[in-house]
Amino acid sequence: MLNYLLTDEQKMIKDLAHKIAEEKIRPVAAKYDKTEEFPWEVIKVIAASDLFGLFIPEEYGGMSVNVMNLCLATEELSRACGGIAVCYAASALGTFPIVLFGNDAQKKKYLPDLAKGKKLAAFGLTEPEAGSDAGSIKTTARKEGNYYILNGTKHFITNGGDAETYTVVAMTDKNKGARGASAFIVEKGTKGFTFGKKEDKLGIRASSTMELVFNDCKVPAENLLAKEGMGFIVTMRTFDMSRPGVAAQALGIAQGALELAVKYSRQRHQFGKPISSFQGIQWMFADMATEIEAARALVYSCARAVDAGEKDIGAASAMAKLFASDVSFKVCDMALQIHGGYGYMKDYPIEKYLRDAKITQIYEGTNQIQRNIIGLQMIKDLAK
Ligand SMILES: Cc1cc2nc3c(=O)[nH]c(=O)nc-3n(C[C@H](O)[C@H](O)[C@H](O)COP(=O)(O)OP(=O)(O)OC[C@H]3O[C@@H](n4cnc5c(N)ncnc54)[C@H](O)[C@@H]3O)c2cc1C
Repeated sequence: MLNYLLTDEQKMIKDLAHKIAEEKIRPVAAKYDKTEEFPWEVIKVIAASDLFGLFIPEEYGGMSVNVMNLCLATEELSRACGGIAVCYAASALGTFPIVLFGNDAQKKKYLPDLAKGKKLAAFGLTEPEAGSDAGSIKTTARKEGNYYILNGTKHFITNGGDAETYTVVAMTDKNKGARGASAFIVEKGTKGFTFGKKEDKLGIRASSTMELVFNDCKVPAENLLAKEGMGFIVTMRTFDMSRPGVAAQALGIAQGALELAVKYSRQRHQFGKPISSFQGIQWMFADMATEIEAARALVYSCARAVDAGEKDIGAASAMAKLFASDVSFKVCDMALQIHGGYGYMKDYPIEKYLRDAKITQIYEGTNQIQRNIIGLQMIKDLAK
């Protein structure tokens, strides 16, 4: 791996996350994959190590908002388990709207507990009839005095049920289309806010994916983020910050799969030799390692650009997520192939990597949608 000129602080974060991954996550990854229980024991360790502070400003109890640091931590945690890592990364997704658009009172109220990992956050946009077409969400927020009354259902929400703090997008004015959406902070336990179906998933099974149900849910007007009508601006800016994190998750899963495949190839003998001695296998490793490194270079460059405050980062974030997740799925497929029939069995950890990698091509916008974002930006740029 290239060294990417990491600072001493970044090396420390990477080493810390690596240690947690090896000592606390790897030994329990299969257990949580099987039981689909929420991995609180690991979340507590991550919290005690202050890694939840990596995406929260210092004045609100964090270490500073730094997407590169978040990516380094997410990548290392994902090497051992993509499912447990996403419980961590999804809290960043739910927190970014408050960091980016919250007022001082909202930040003071919600960020310190999120920075300490005492509470987790989640982000609720997707609905049964509104996935890629997020502009067609039907959940409404009607203003009544000092409250907004929320009605509707969000589904497929990561950390649903286990998070305490939810940022939710709802329509305040249906007539205004995309400009009629607004974002709210909704606390678990608010009257009229309940949880529906918990999904039984292919991969990232340690992470909970749940329905959020709003039934005349009274949310204080002071929980509106930014202004009415800014819901999709909040969403897009949030994704610009969080998509490199999904890319880092994909990267970590791919790196973990490559390491497992190399280890296995040295132990498995066929034709009287370890299979690692066959050039056909070595070339697979060469392709896997090269593509991972190319993905890493793109993800880190994008994260650094976000941290440097570069504007118009949407296409770069989409590229990082698109490329790293496609590489991840391909690398995991090759890693499983190198395990032969054993790789297909649950006795070996590699099949889980393939299952975990798949989601990175789907959530926070499918890779078709990432291509749409990049394509549109290219047309805009080249017309200048
Ligand atoms: C495990 C999991 C966790 C999730 N976590 C969250 C979360 O925390 N918060 C949240 O809000 N959402 C979450 N999601 C939702 C996720 O972001 C959506 O599933 C995703 O955006 C796709 O929406 P959809 O599933 O409705 O698919 P659809 O939009 O129905 O897409 C179906 C297919 O059509 C393709 N397609 C759609 N439109 C186009 C187009 N214009 N051009 C080309 N192809 C197109 C898609 O790429 C896809 O292949 C999660 C989903 C999963 C599975």
